[in-house]
Amino acid sequence: MLVEKIKTSNITEFKDHEQVYHFKDDSVNLEGYVGIHSTFLGPATGGTRFWSYNDPLDALKDALQLSEAMSYKCAMSGVKFGGGKAVILAKGKKNKNLLKSYAEFIDTLQGIFTTGPDVGIDEVDTEYMSNFSPFILGHKATQHERLGTSEMAARGVYISIQKIIQVFGNNDLKGIKVAVKGLGKVGGELVRLLIDSGAIVYGSDIDIARCKYIANLYPQLKIVDSAEIASLAVDIYSPCAIGHEFTEQNVRNVKANFIIGAANNQLTTTKVGDYFYEHDKLYAPDYIVNAGGLINITDELDEGGYTPERVLKRIDFIGDTLLNVINISKINQVATYKVADELARKKISRSV
Ligand code: NAD
Repeated sequence: MLVEKIKTSNITEFKDHEQVYHFKDDSVNLEGYVGIHSTFLGPATGGTRFWSYNDPLDALKDALQLSEAMSYKCAMSGVKFGGGKAVILAKGKKNKNLLKSYAEFIDTLQGIFTTGPDVGIDEVDTEYMSNFSPFILGHKATQHERLGTSEMAARGVYISIQKIIQVFGNNDLKGIKVAVKGLGKVGGELVRLLIDSGAIVYGSDIDIARCKYIANLYPQLKIVDSAEIASLAVDIYSPCAIGHEFTEQNVRNVKANFIIGAANNQLTTTKVGDYFYEHDKLYAPDYIVNAGGLINITDELDEGGYTPERVLKRIDFIGDTLLNVINISKINQVATYKVADELARKKISRSV
């Protein structure tokens, strides 16, 4: 295994990262990056993503952006961890040898970074990897009587949707139109929660087999084209696919008045967040509403070990955190993403 520490202090947008690693094990076709943004609140934590990138630099940037967002997510969700993230470049199929080698590398970091599932890595993978390092978190719910991490991420988004709907005068979700992009682990569960609550749900996924699978489970779900879903005339648009959802160009297509989804790093630039604010569209900061997974996964390291009741209580609180951000945004007339970033930065600032 080749491991090198990378300096990012010369890249303005990423100069605050505490540590960045490049790891490579050619014998199992493993290569990736770990970004550790902040350990101010505690050891860094964040999921591991397995994804195909056109350029390794894109993978590095993804790890750096996502790890910074993790710092903000930890700060705003109240867990005593810092922000980190790992990405593995998908050069072929994921296999046990690759996962073992990766877990052994994570072990060498001796707990300054703990990790769990993300896009392309599920709880079966983390269950297997935990054989090689105690710093791999998030095991299969069924085997340990734990709540599922992706389900808890979906629950946080669902609670945020409920909260916003209530604040804007609706008692429940009956008849509310929601479009969910990405029907994966989180999106699929969100669809279930929304349909059970009587919402009218549209969904899309680039994976046709996945669309069929979810549509089969929930016949009320209306499947639409992924290229069209963001521009549907619905009440709520919920991005639950991969990140970088909104660009300065495509943001103009969004018709929904509320944007509340699980995907990380939804805003490609701050101008996109400003656009939502200036056009009276309420953008719920992604790292606030999708913190349910983080809350679930880190609970096993909290006092007394994993406690489902504590997890559910903390996820419920996501709605109040969101409400606080919305109120400050209204009072100070500042976009919601800015309010959230400022609150989070204050919490992780060493100078405060
Ligand atoms: P997943 O891999 O299970 O699902 C993602 C789905 O999105 C896949 O089915 C994929 O085919 C689909 N997709 C990809 N690009 C698409 C596109 N352009 N249009 C439509 N569909 C597309 O991942 P997940 O665990 O459900 O995570 C979804 C998002 O939520 C990610 O951004 C992830 O970082 C974020 N998130 C996940 C968790 C978690 O616990 N799983 C927690 C917090 C945030």
